[in-house]
Amino acid sequence: MNLISPPKADWQRLLSTAVCQLDQLLNELHLTPEQLPASVAAARDFPLRVPRPYLAKIRPGDPQDPLLLQVLPQQQELNLTPGFTTDPLHEAEHNPLPGLIHKYQGRVLLILSGACAINCRYCFRRHFPYSDNQLSSSQRTAILDYLRRDPSIHEVILSGGDPLAVPDQRLFSLLDELEAIEHLTRIRIHSRLPVVIPQRITPALCQRLANSRLHSVLVLHINHPHELDSPLVNALQPLRQAGVTLLNQAVLLKGINDRVECLATLSEQLFAASILPYYLFVLDQVQGAAHFQLSREQAQGLFRQLQARLPGYLVPRLAQEIPGRPNKTLLSGQ
Ligand SMILES: *Cc1c(COP(=O)(O)O)cnc(C)c1O
Ligand code: SF4
Repeated sequence: MNLISPPKADWQRLLSTAVCQLDQLLNELHLTPEQLPASVAAARDFPLRVPRPYLAKIRPGDPQDPLLLQVLPQQQELNLTPGFTTDPLHEAEHNPLPGLIHKYQGRVLLILSGACAINCRYCFRRHFPYSDNQLSSSQRTAILDYLRRDPSIHEVILSGGDPLAVPDQRLFSLLDELEAIEHLTRIRIHSRLPVVIPQRITPALCQRLANSRLHSVLVLHINHPHELDSPLVNALQPLRQAGVTLLNQAVLLKGINDRVECLATLSEQLFAASILPYYLFVLDQVQGAAHFQLSREQAQGLFRQLQARLPGYLVPRLAQEIPGRPNKTLLSGQ
């Protein structure tokens, strides 16, 4: 019997060697502390975390790089802004069971993992009580019972954190159990992990999804054309061949992707990689992220320009999640 634990996959090694120190980040990007006003205090509140494949997409020597600004802890995060809270989506109220959010008809969101590969400064989950949302085996049993008992549920959305942060075997055993629930027809994975570590798209994952009786959808989270580089595009092709529908959601972020040229290029490049733009979210009002916010009018203005420029199928839905509503609220405006 082999008692040595299996070797870590490439992506797991990349996960554990992410850059988490500010001085290391500066060094790697050839920036000085004067050029880059990083905040140690903000990093204490919500740690810096950048895996190497994502770091490689950041242009060295540019303190305004749009990818860098998504991960850089900054002083302004510590400002308290009225209206910005720690649980803007009131998700705590819709947890029928730990790890499960059932807010929308026909679909549930299953928090498979509290972990993320990267820490995005604008994230609405930056204050989420993940320690209460780790999926233990008893919780998993309870969730599966809940799903079995409610035939109105057709789609399970794996979310997090990042659901692809869990090893393939755990994912596959969950899939086995979901496939056994007859009224389920779709599985959806919401993940940013392939964007920051393309190696996460393993041949085993592609094969398992190809063999599933459930239709599978992968919703990626790509905010800027620079994130969609050739290692990512190449890594996604086998998923497409496996019949997985690829969609993208982005967050509209001031100073990062708030120009119509940038958003139009993103849509065009997504399409070239066989990914359809799905949602463009306005920022959730989470404490520490106010400096990324555009006004509602600015967001709608950008959306109208985008609409005037692109075929309809390349225009993402401009949306917001408003607590208490039975669906995402479209701000597309007339
Ligand atoms: C966003 C979200 C969904 C999925 O919404 P779609 O409009 O189907 O993409 C489902 N449940 C929760 C709790 C959500 O926040
Ligand atoms: S949940 Fe998504 S947006 Fe939030 S930190 Fe994790 S990867 Fe980034």
